[in-house]
Amino acid sequence: MKLYIVSFGCQMNKLDTSLVEAEFTKSGFELTEDQTEADVILMNTCSVREHAEQRVLSRLGYAKHLKRSGRKVVVGVIGCMAQRLGNSLLEREEVDVVCGPGQIPELKKMVIEKLEGSKGGVINVSPQIRKSPSVKNSAMLDEFELENSPNLTEHKNKAFVRVMRGCNNFCSYCIVPFVRGPEVSRSPDKILNQIRRLAESGVKQVTLLGQTVNSYRHTENGNEYRLHNLLEKTAEIDGIEWISFVTNYPYMDYTTPLFKAVAEIDKVCPYLHLPAQSGSEKVLKAMNRKYTPQDYIRLIDEAREHVPEIAVAGDFIVGFPGESEEDFRETEKLVERIRYKNIFAFKYSPRPGTSTEKRLEDNVPDKIKRERNIKLLALQESISSEDNKKFEGRKMRVFVEGRSSKGHLNNADNEKSPQLIGRTAGDYIVVFNGQEELTGKFADIIIEKTSALTLFGKVSDGQE
Ligand code: SAM
Ligand code: SF4
Repeated sequence: MKLYIVSFGCQMNKLDTSLVEAEFTKSGFELTEDQTEADVILMNTCSVREHAEQRVLSRLGYAKHLKRSGRKVVVGVIGCMAQRLGNSLLEREEVDVVCGPGQIPELKKMVIEKLEGSKGGVINVSPQIRKSPSVKNSAMLDEFELENSPNLTEHKNKAFVRVMRGCNNFCSYCIVPFVRGPEVSRSPDKILNQIRRLAESGVKQVTLLGQTVNSYRHTENGNEYRLHNLLEKTAEIDGIEWISFVTNYPYMDYTTPLFKAVAEIDKVCPYLHLPAQSGSEKVLKAMNRKYTPQDYIRLIDEAREHVPEIAVAGDFIVGFPGESEEDFRETEKLVERIRYKNIFAFKYSPRPGTSTEKRLEDNVPDKIKRERNIKLLALQESISSEDNKKFEGRKMRVFVEGRSSKGHLNNADNEKSPQLIGRTAGDYIVVFNGQEELTGKFADIIIEKTSALTLFGKVSDGQE
């Protein structure tokens, strides 16, 4: 039996996809990258922007074509779109299985049922998504995670570990709380056991994942664990050398202990992904973000006091309802003030059922959204090009991810020493020529040249 699975959206989805791949391959399925030879096609979907949903719908169109041309294949939609659209997906002739993010431990059973010829579609989503999951459901998700996480990851010796599920923030534009449910922090014991197992299987770098990972809070035997406690405990695990955590929310409390942990624990990477969304106080208020641009700047200043070279990444939404030229200018000013390592910029996309979609007209024309998006990214690019120059001549440690798919350097085709890609602890991308056996290991690279998105270098021979 062959499984084709495609993933859309965030790291959480990539993690779920690798868990599903591990679960299916354990039961004898073979993974394929060719849909036309698959017995099972699964789409792990994202609902954060309309565009992501449209891409899934067009993929489903292709699956319909395969089925109509006689191919016997089970087609499943899993993840956020499954939770959001539920039964209406089953009304499509090509869809056999619909499974929400909270039900993936049951996915294999549902697919097998269909492969064995059961009639009609099968669906399993949370009936009341804002209700806290039952103890049984949480235990099932934890077990699924523990059993499958060491098997397959995108990059050798690098793994993502979920420390929280869901979100309670209700930013007014965001669908996540309605498809991923309320915030639940996993037990530190379970997380640490999982990381120990990963370390035993060779993993050297872990990234702790949560929608707002810095709100991690779990009480066990009367002791409260926050993210900095989890970082301390993770750092005690032999074999784990680098630890990162994403994504953070600009909370005004509980930042000092976290920044101190980044400063004081060697294994914790100096990297902070802290989405701002906008530089305009008015827009932030309308977004129901609970901070002002000044608060945000204070936070980053504090992070830099503790960790001067911390690499900061941010997310922005442009063209939010009512965003004026002046508001956008405030966003540009924030980007100029912070000097991010990189930013992600998105055009506002109304999401059905969110409070912005219900209350505010999507009144910034698409053309202006696009222009602002391009302008913001260009501004950041010029900042990154300038700031990255400071790395020229420096020796930087990278974790090697493998061959680079793009031909960046002159000798990209060198078979003995192919072009490899790695990332520094601050998440800078480094391209260099080296032996493929370096994949999944650390290497020291002398940086020779830089651009806005990439640093280029050569493997250090230790003489420098
Ligand atoms: N929890 C994280 C946070 O609060 O920053 C990230 C959640 S979301 C999956 C990732 C990014 O998508 C957000 O930071 C935001 O910039 C963007 N996003 C969320 N909803 C959006 C919408 N309706 N339209 C455009 N971008 C959106
Ligand atoms: Fe969405 Fe806001 Fe939660 Fe992030 S913090 S997932 S943007 S509601």
